[in-house]
Amino acid sequence: MTRASQASERRETALVVGAGVVGMTVALALQRKGFAVTVVDRQAPGEGASFGNAGFLAVELIDPLATPAMLRKVPRLLLDPHGAAALPPRYLPRLLPWLIRFVAAAKSARVRHGREALAALNAESLKAWQRCLADIGADDELLASGYLLVWESPEGMAQARAHAEHLRHWGIEATLLDADEIRAREPGLGDTISHGLWFPNAHQMRDPFVLVQRLAKAFEARGGGIQLAEVNALEPREMGLQQVQTEHGPLEADHVVVAAGAWSHKLLKGVGLDVPLETERGYHLTLPRRQLALKQPVGSAERRFVMTPMRCGLRIVGFTELGGLSLAPIKRRYRSLRRHGAALLADESGLDASAEEWMGFRPTLPDSLPVIDSHPRVASLHFAFGHQHLGLTQAAITAELLAARVVGEKPAMDISAYRVTRFSRCCVD
Ligand SMILES: Cc1cc2nc3c(=O)[nH]c(=O)nc-3n(C[C@H](O)[C@H](O)[C@H](O)COP(=O)(O)OP(=O)(O)OC[C@H]3O[C@@H](n4cnc5c(N)ncnc54)[C@H](O)[C@@H]3O)c2cc1C
Repeated sequence: MTRASQASERRETALVVGAGVVGMTVALALQRKGFAVTVVDRQAPGEGASFGNAGFLAVELIDPLATPAMLRKVPRLLLDPHGAAALPPRYLPRLLPWLIRFVAAAKSARVRHGREALAALNAESLKAWQRCLADIGADDELLASGYLLVWESPEGMAQARAHAEHLRHWGIEATLLDADEIRAREPGLGDTISHGLWFPNAHQMRDPFVLVQRLAKAFEARGGGIQLAEVNALEPREMGLQQVQTEHGPLEADHVVVAAGAWSHKLLKGVGLDVPLETERGYHLTLPRRQLALKQPVGSAERRFVMTPMRCGLRIVGFTELGGLSLAPIKRRYRSLRRHGAALLADESGLDASAEEWMGFRPTLPDSLPVIDSHPRVASLHFAFGHQHLGLTQAAITAELLAARVVGEKPAMDISAYRVTRFSRCCVD
């Protein structure tokens, strides 16, 4: 092809709604496929859920959130004032339809299917991140940190053994350590630990917000555009350019991708897709001067929270609060995080008022699987959202799979489990 004919050939365009870790990895993957890409978000890149997560590539989280064992634990978690799960009563009536689907998802055949689908994405997630970060020269954001999952009560020994066995079956290595071995590996923990599991192959990001900013910078350096605007509606057309309505007027592109995290379902309603997306609100404390408090991420199996040493400080993360998108953060959650941190850390300093407090919205579907798909009737309208606790882990692999789908290539793995119509059929003619 000559230079002149190359120049006259119009580059296909794509518009990505959402500049979180999922939207930005999708935008970069589409650039790699040759698209001229614009990202539109009402906030700057990375200011949604992707800002404040625990930065951990949680490839060992292969079980869907709804399992019979988890449902049995729910009453105890809800009754404990510092328990990891919360259902604010004000939101309960709106949550009920989702809860019914969530409970139904705990049937054993559905759990098996969900586990296979999560494990398949997680198994490819690290390699996809390595490709993405190598491509933009940001490999230093990823750290081979390992991970410690600890128990305080010796009664949890059988649970730890069974968990390691279960994960081994899925190719995930975890070694049982006693209290002395944990003390030797992690001097930052206090003396309350009974035993734990060590995951030697685990990875973390050094700072999830900086990560998204670097994705965005690389995207812009390659000619990508980022527009600050609220998207009010998708206006799909069967032929020609797709249109979205923003607060500043319409935008058009050959392809549109919705990667709007916990808000995605609102946009899908207008295109005939009823997707039962809820949010699991999660909270964090960041202790700015405690970067060196721990040598690797540490999770508590009993308290269900995680502490990750990051460039920006020690981050203490927890809670699954099914409270919707508009309720203000509930202050006592920060007190609970302080209490959990104080119980596990050898040195409590930094848990005072200097700790930064944050709450964010995990986008979660009742079966715990994301949506990675295209509209059943409008071939150039695509979706990448609903990654629950695993959005950071699964963003880069999601982006590769979705980009293949956009250009009509066969994705590198079967993505039928992540289809958008698995909850209800499309009602647009
Ligand atoms: C406390 C906590 C800890 C977590 N820890 C981990 C972890 O360790 N590992 C892991 O893998 N995952 C973790 N997660 C989950 C992970 O953070 C999320 O799954 C992930 O960030 C979702 O990314 P996203 O890009 O889909 O959504 P977001 O980051 O929320 O991005 C969505 C973007 O869409 C924009 N948007 C929405 N609607 C519109 C609209 N109409 N117009 C314009 N813009 C719009 C929003 O402004 C936002 O910027 C955690 C989450 C929380 C809350």
